[in-house]
Amino acid sequence: MKIGRYELHQIETGRFALDGGAMFGIVPKPLWSKLNPPDDENRIDMALRVLLIMGNKRNILVDTGIGTKFSEKYKEIYKIDHSKYNLDSSLKKFNLETKDITDVILTHLHFDHAGGSTYVEDGKHKLTFPNAVYYVQKANYEWALNPSEKDSGSYHKEDFVPVAEEGKLRLVEGRVVILPNIEVIISDGHTTGQQLVKISDEKNTLVYCGDLIPTVSHIRIPYIMGYDIHPLTTIEEKKRLLSNACSGDWTLFFEHDALTEAVKVKKAEKGFGVREKVIL
Ligand SMILES: [Zn+2]
Repeated sequence: MKIGRYELHQIETGRFALDGGAMFGIVPKPLWSKLNPPDDENRIDMALRVLLIMGNKRNILVDTGIGTKFSEKYKEIYKIDHSKYNLDSSLKKFNLETKDITDVILTHLHFDHAGGSTYVEDGKHKLTFPNAVYYVQKANYEWALNPSEKDSGSYHKEDFVPVAEEGKLRLVEGRVVILPNIEVIISDGHTTGQQLVKISDEKNTLVYCGDLIPTVSHIRIPYIMGYDIHPLTTIEEKKRLLSNACSGDWTLFFEHDALTEAVKVKKAEKGFGVREKVIL
């Protein structure tokens, strides 16, 4: 897909799995399990799909996947799997290496979004993208340093403190244009200071929905993750985004859906539904 001066590509950085009940909150399992069949531990398969934006002499990534800094125990709990997809091989398809990435826009600092920002070599944390500036909302960075007891398990300081220490973390505040044609939208329901990324020109708009709408199932309004710290805020933010996406014919991009990378939406009897699938 082309928007403005950029070529957009989806790349998968790995797979993991999360508890289906936690992913769909109050929705009963007989409903969510139809589209999201759980394994025998009740986990559903999740993509770690990031967006590669190339053009204007830049190679920009939105989010970085889950990364490689996990103990065997964690790998098992979250079913972390890089055998089919990983960051290096996915970048290679576009003749890129991690050193070629110029900008990294992090939606938020949860480990499944920011984990790929750093890695361990010789017992030290290093930056995966040594030549990149990493952008995150100031409110999210401050929250990540002192998270609530509810979401402290999702913030791993080794994913972002080394980036700040290297002077590569750019803290942005509110709805700002990060680069030409690329702005961020604030969303506080899932966690404080999440930023969704909106890429647009006169004709086309794509929004990287992060954890506001992580999978196609979450287009349904009551499908709210149990992880969210302000679920009623999520509902309002989701309705606003879906309504704008309908009227503006926007493409919505899903980070975590195992099968569907992006869709266009339509108004439905109750809320919203998929109008068509989009392949970038
Ligand atoms: Zn998250």
